[in-house]
Amino acid sequence: MTIDKTRWQEFNQLLSQKGLPAVLLDSATTAAAEEMDEILAGPEGYFDAHPITRAISDEMIKCCRQGDVDYDTRWSVDFDESRPETMARYYALAYASTTLIPLDDLTQWELVADTLFPDPRCDVHLLHDCYRLRDRGEYLRAETVSMKRGEIICLFNICDMCLESLRWITFKSPEYGGPHPWTDEGKRGDDPSAL
Ligand SMILES: [Zn+2]
Repeated sequence: MTIDKTRWQEFNQLLSQKGLPAVLLDSATTAAAEEMDEILAGPEGYFDAHPITRAISDEMIKCCRQGDVDYDTRWSVDFDESRPETMARYYALAYASTTLIPLDDLTQWELVADTLFPDPRCDVHLLHDCYRLRDRGEYLRAETVSMKRGEIICLFNICDMCLESLRWITFKSPEYGGPHPWTDEGKRGDDPSAL
């Protein structure tokens, strides 16, 4: 895989329009970006294997477990809390929400996203610069992406700048402002039986 230099230049132009410093394309960055390209394009799809998106979804599931879970049944024909046999299914979970959305079919997450986020704005703020833009009342184009964790399909909005940063950023990068991995007595976020 090779890094798309044109796309990188466009990205840096975008940063400079916003008055932000460019991201240099050094050899370490290039190697990390190529590795991330392979992960993002891997057989699992979406962002399932990326350590940072896994930390985001871990945090979402942890937040959902801590609150009183309720259900938004708009997308499910036969979901019925009083009938446990109808509860074995996929659920969508939006960022910072404790509402589980029963799905009749895995692909429905896109309809859910269109309804919940007609005008998506970055939720995850992986970069301090993304927070800075928000604090100035500015928003980059964002999209809703999904990540499957067991039976939960985590939905979160991510701006172009944060999305691009997944190709090079790590938890230790000084630019990084997103969530960190968590441990909860050894239990990780993709154990569906814990929900
Ligand atoms: Zn962002």
